[in-house]
Amino acid sequence: MPIQILRGDITRLDVDAIVNAANESLLGGGGVDGAIHRAAGPELLEECRKLGGCPTGEARITGGYRLPARHVIHTVGPVWRGGTRNEPALLASCYRSSLALAVENGVHTIAFPAISTGVFGYPIAEAAAIAIGEVVRFLREQGGIDRVVFVCFNEEVEEAHRRSLERLLPDSGF
Ligand code: ADP
Repeated sequence: MPIQILRGDITRLDVDAIVNAANESLLGGGGVDGAIHRAAGPELLEECRKLGGCPTGEARITGGYRLPARHVIHTVGPVWRGGTRNEPALLASCYRSSLALAVENGVHTIAFPAISTGVFGYPIAEAAAIAIGEVVRFLREQGGIDRVVFVCFNEEVEEAHRRSLERLLPDSGF
């Protein structure tokens, strides 16, 4: 099964790339972004400064520095504003852009946090359905990625991802 759902801290994962739920400045923040910058060390911020930011829904890649992961893929999720400001399409775009950038850079194993579900306020069940749906679709349609890990920081996030995956599994082809 190329999709795994784990509870834990994404900064500890030994994969080719971990995804950061960043903000448009790419200059660090709270939540998983802060944890990734702390664990990677100051060189990560130095490289991020050179990128000049990233629009919502897109992704950028850097080195992983002191992380076990070789790369960090920074993507900017939408802030939840009630669901009428294109949030679902923007969140889906984060997953697709991150996976496309991974393939372009020879990344075969990748770990995602639950993008936008922290400070950005995206409802967890809806976000998990989009995350799982986009990843299943990508894996079905394109080669290059061997393993996708969803790293869930708490039980609610983990359960939401498990439910979404179970719902999709019968026709996922895995
Ligand atoms: P956003 O601004 O996109 O909402 P947050 O970092 O606030 O980003 O939250 C995104 C998700 O990441 C939340 O579900 C949060 O619980 C989770 N999270 C926070 N720290 C970590 C971590 N170290 N590893 C994995 N997930 C984390």
